Amino acid sequence: MDGKPGFGLKHLVIFVVVAVILNGQYTWWVVESLRENRDRLELERQLILSQAEAAALGVAIRLDKATLRILELPSGVIPPTGDPFPEARVVERSEPQVGWVEDEGRPAFSWPLGGGRATLLYLDPESPRRWLAVTAPSMRLVESSGGNGLPRVTLSPPLDRLAVAPDAGRWNDVLVRYRRHVVLVVLEGTFFLAAMVSAVFLLWIALRREGERERQHQNFVSAITHELKTPLAGIRVALETVLRGRADPEGSQRFLANALTDADRLGDLIEKVLEVTRYTGGGHRLNIALGDLSQLVEEEEIAAERRAAARGVEIESDIAPGVQASFDPEALGIVISNLLENALKYAQGQPAHVSVRLAIEHGEAVLEVADNGIGIATGELETIFRPFYRANDEITRRTPGTGIGLFVAREIAVAHGGRLTAASGGRGQGATFRLVLPGAGTLPEEDFSE
Ligand code: ADP
Repeated sequence: MDGKPGFGLKHLVIFVVVAVILNGQYTWWVVESLRENRDRLELERQLILSQAEAAALGVAIRLDKATLRILELPSGVIPPTGDPFPEARVVERSEPQVGWVEDEGRPAFSWPLGGGRATLLYLDPESPRRWLAVTAPSMRLVESSGGNGLPRVTLSPPLDRLAVAPDAGRWNDVLVRYRRHVVLVVLEGTFFLAAMVSAVFLLWIALRREGERERQHQNFVSAITHELKTPLAGIRVALETVLRGRADPEGSQRFLANALTDADRLGDLIEKVLEVTRYTGGGHRLNIALGDLSQLVEEEEIAAERRAAARGVEIESDIAPGVQASFDPEALGIVISNLLENALKYAQGQPAHVSVRLAIEHGEAVLEVADNGIGIATGELETIFRPFYRANDEITRRTPGTGIGLFVAREIAVAHGGRLTAASGGRGQGATFRLVLPGAGTLPEEDFSE
């Protein structure tokens, strides 16, 4: 095992560079796509306009032909009525002119008859519509000044109040297609960008976590190496001194007793390290099942009582019977025994006193282990849960310990979905450790274990 994380900053940088290039390409595609879409809309508009122009030209040619037929008549002859002039009137005009005039708000073709008279041929407003229906069925006649956004070509006079425009449905289809494409491209672009940003963000978080875990691992390894070396060096010095006969018999006894203490410390440390490797870092699968927590606490308390008696510590317990919770008995046993062991170690009043309380509060199992011992400074209530952290006071230094117990205990509590916290009024004020496990209940009384 080389201890290096599988994914490093270098990889993240490469990933971000690739993501930026891909994003650049994608943004270019989005811009191009929108531009192409806009060009396509303009092209369709031009196409419609040229069709409208052709249609408008068709109307103008038909009208020209109709007027040409009149112009070809001998002078003085009253032109016959018919399409597009269904109505003709002979009117008095002092200076009659040939060509289009406006009469009663209607366009009419004026044809002089001589003698101060003229024929007015009124244009049928329906004629251009009929012609258009034959020559360009997809086109409509609309007001030339209408503002409904349709592309249009205004007819030449005298029909310049009208314009040729495509069928509104057809133009709408073109617009709907254009807008749908814009929405699709923008959505796709946003989605891609969001996916890229999220991927980079998630990778960054994973990398940070990996780094944090790596740092913890390194700290742990260096601390453990140091912790293992110290008692080993002690044992070595003691054995060498005794073997080389450098101490008198009484001194040798003391050296050997110290070596034994160091060996115990080493054994304790190795056991705790095994617990750490088993229960921390998320690698261990806990065998969590519904069980009798009261029974487990009682068992641990009974085991602690023997040690308490040897140290002159009183234990008082208030364990609610039949408390049911989901836990791994082996792992939780380690937590409870660590808390009890610490309370016994650090209790110091006259008499030294430890209390154990188990109850259900708001559906959670609450175990409190309190002592009247050396207490914990407010600033250390959290730091004591760090691996290898031991309070820097004379009593703690004299008390054997590894500084791992609370770290493992909290890891196990958290793996159960619970929490482990410490409370204390300060140095010399005793300490209370509180373990909370969610989802607790009570067994019916007849099922209580003995
Ligand atoms: P250890 O007790 O082996 O040193 P722990 O991880 O169990 O390691 O505890 C870490 C530190 O927390 C202890 O060294 C001690 O300083 C402090 N501590 C733990 N329990 C108590 C307690 N009951 N009262 C006062 N201090 C405590």
